Amino acid sequence: MGEMTGKRFEGKVAIVTASTQGIGFAIAERLGLEGASVVISSRKQQNVDEAAEKLRAKGIEVLALVCHVSNAQQRKDLIHKTVQMYGKIDVIVSNAAANPSIDPILQTKDSVLDKLWEINVKATILLLKDAAPHLHKGSSVIIVSSITGYSPPASMSMYGVTKTALLGLTKALAAEMAPNTRVNCIAPGFVPTNFASFITSNEAIRQELEAKTLLARLGTTEDMAAGTAFLASDDASYITGETLVIAGGMPSRL
Ligand code: NAP
Repeated sequence: MGEMTGKRFEGKVAIVTASTQGIGFAIAERLGLEGASVVISSRKQQNVDEAAEKLRAKGIEVLALVCHVSNAQQRKDLIHKTVQMYGKIDVIVSNAAANPSIDPILQTKDSVLDKLWEINVKATILLLKDAAPHLHKGSSVIIVSSITGYSPPASMSMYGVTKTALLGLTKALAAEMAPNTRVNCIAPGFVPTNFASFITSNEAIRQELEAKTLLARLGTTEDMAAGTAFLASDDASYITGETLVIAGGMPSRL
């Protein structure tokens, strides 16, 4: 990130789920460099500790907690400890997702359907349910969907459908949480992270994906962080219920 970046989140408190690497980490880093106190979390203590250390080395104020998003107690602790430490919540980024299957939808096991729904959709709802009493006027929620939500590809079809659900959830919650809290969404294109490595580490597939963009490259975690920071900031104070596609011009919708 360049030296020209402003400090839009000075004095603000931001929770980012699934934020010890990849897109979530980059979002936490960006919000932190712009002045936010950031609350990071993921399933593994060691990942949480390592990520916190990296952010603190950049001068960012961090609260680091273990939170598997489908664990009710850990979700409650995430909210409770944030409020205990900083007294408020200004921004919540719901970023966790699972993609445990490449099977066609009609061949996906019942237990896998439950897991996809549980982590990709329901956990966001339940986290926001816990957070809602602490969200004051001017607060903002960002949900991380995916370009696959617009047209689920064969190898990620049920995952894509859960991401489609998040587009609807964004609209519905924007209405429900207005006027105090804005609710927006990002739909990333393909970004080479661990999560996407089964696709992006294959050279032929990588080139195919790059060719589907207009900008002739995959996305970076920083691209996703920049769009998220915009939506979370007061620069977007008249935007709610929207999804920002950050996909280098890949086909999404008109
Ligand atoms: P990533 O680099 O693999 O990072 C995943 C992060 O999530 C890690 O910090 C991991 O840490 C944590 N995590 C995984 N499962 C979790 C759970 N159940 N509860 C809490 N934390 C959990 O993944 P990513 O590519 O950044 O993906 C982040 C989001 O972007 C997802 O919603 C994904 O659907 C979306 N997305 C990604 C792409 C892409 O191409 N990469 C494209 C579109 C959308 P632990 O292992 O310690 O839990």
